[in-house]
Amino acid sequence: MRCNYGGELRATTVEHLSRWGDGPRVLVKGVPVKRCERCGLEYLADDVARRLEELVRAGGASR
Ligand SMILES: [Zn+2]
Repeated sequence: MRCNYGGELRATTVEHLSRWGDGPRVLVKGVPVKRCERCGLEYLADDVARRLEELVRAGGASR
């Protein structure tokens, strides 16, 4: 898999800081992404993005 700009994508994990609307920031660790070696863009798989969204909603609701 390659980035739109031709860079090689490498699988890695990142810490993802999200905000849901005006809610609290939620930090999710160990999020699997593919990062472009050339431009640094990070690509989230659809299912990962969905899970992140659920986590952020849950984290926001509990505070
Ligand atoms: Zn790129």
